[in-house]
Amino acid sequence: LSRNPGETEFHQSVHEVLDSLGPVVAKHPEYTDAEVIRRLCEPERQIIFRVPWVDDSGQVQINRGFRVEFNSALGPYKGGLRFHPSVYLGIVKFLGFEQIFKNSLTGMPIGGGKGGSDFDPKGRSDGEIMRFCQSFMTELSRHIGEYTDVPAGDIGVGGREIGYLFGQYKRITNRYESGVLTGKGLTWGGSQVRTEATGYGLVFFVSEILNARGESFDGKRVVVSGSGNVAVYAIEKVQQLGGTVVACSDSSGYVVDEKGIDLALLKEVKEVRRERISAYAEARGGSGASYVAGGSVWDVACDIALPCATQNELNGHDAATLADHGCTIVAEGANMPCTPEAVRAFAARGVTFAPGKAANAGGVATSALEMQQNASRDSWTFEHTEERLAEIMRGIHDRCLETAEEYGTPANYAAGANIAGFTQVADAMLALGVI
Ligand code: NDP
Repeated sequence: LSRNPGETEFHQSVHEVLDSLGPVVAKHPEYTDAEVIRRLCEPERQIIFRVPWVDDSGQVQINRGFRVEFNSALGPYKGGLRFHPSVYLGIVKFLGFEQIFKNSLTGMPIGGGKGGSDFDPKGRSDGEIMRFCQSFMTELSRHIGEYTDVPAGDIGVGGREIGYLFGQYKRITNRYESGVLTGKGLTWGGSQVRTEATGYGLVFFVSEILNARGESFDGKRVVVSGSGNVAVYAIEKVQQLGGTVVACSDSSGYVVDEKGIDLALLKEVKEVRRERISAYAEARGGSGASYVAGGSVWDVACDIALPCATQNELNGHDAATLADHGCTIVAEGANMPCTPEAVRAFAARGVTFAPGKAANAGGVATSALEMQQNASRDSWTFEHTEERLAEIMRGIHDRCLETAEEYGTPANYAAGANIAGFTQVADAMLALGVI
């Protein structure tokens, strides 16, 4: 703690992983001898930089940029960029730390990293977003590359921003290095299914949980938080599999639509018009959809809850409310959306909990598939790529369960994910020596 003062979210994510590792350390003293855990908690490299840019009124603005290159034992650093005013080193480090284990779980050759800026894209014009991205990439370009570090999107960074970032990288380096960023557009090196991958992958993971119980999404009531990239495509896949998503949200409030969220309208509001979720309820008019300003979307009764917005958005009280209303599965689309109190409440109430590092790994896994396609100058069909994603999610699900069983915590997905993710990285670190 004293080594990283004030980095609350980073401490939380480290505690969450280390709490699961007791049985591993007992079985593998070689990890302790080589100080693997202490080395893992220290990023290999942290870069913090100034991002100056000029807004539409001619005023110079200064933001802070970050890239934390956490661990490259399994492959080049890989992880998204987040543009949100709450971004500081503690958030980037928590995300980068999580990313190490998540990437390991995918079984793909990718290390862990994360980056971003405290830039707030809300209300900014297209020109301002572009100038910010160009300035951000002017510095970031010195540190990334297809064999070094491969960023992607996260909160506030979608296809538009990846385009501006890639354009500037190409201009500075004079290289069409497709594999340097993932989440690219389909006409310039992107992969089918990447946009949908995190949300779809999350729902595939939940399908595996349901299958194991002899159930399916058919007839299930689902609540999703957020209405960004992960949320929208989680809603799409739940609907395709026969479930009904009755509520979703943004940071200002939530909408309840008992007939099921109208996905075409939601995409129009969020992806085309880039408006608040309240505009969805307004557009639905008298059809029964309602908007609740503020409040908690977790007050809406459901069988399955999918937190897809941001860290610590679902607390112990919310967890108890969900269980009281009959919810039996909570799967994290976002990174660390459930507080430690919430996770304990789920365990106490018999609610199955799927942690983000397993359940939302579909996004980065599909990014690795994008890198594969770039390296072989190939592009796969939507159907083939989606099938690969489904297979990967099935593999992660099974690995979590098998590992949990092996280490004496049967059916505990969180322990299984932490241990399986950790042991693969730890073994690679041992093999590579003290570096
Ligand atoms: P987007 O920017 O597309 O959407 C984020 C959504 O979350 C918006 O609806 C936003 O509402 C809401 N949100 C953001 N911050 C807050 C907050 N402080 N309180 C309440 N709501 C908030 O991001 P993504 O969908 O890409 O990412 C969502 C989560 O999923 C993040 O935790 C991210 O790390 C994680 N994730 C994303 C992956 C990806 O492939 N994109 C991969 C794996 C994980 P508002 O507009 O009001 O801010």
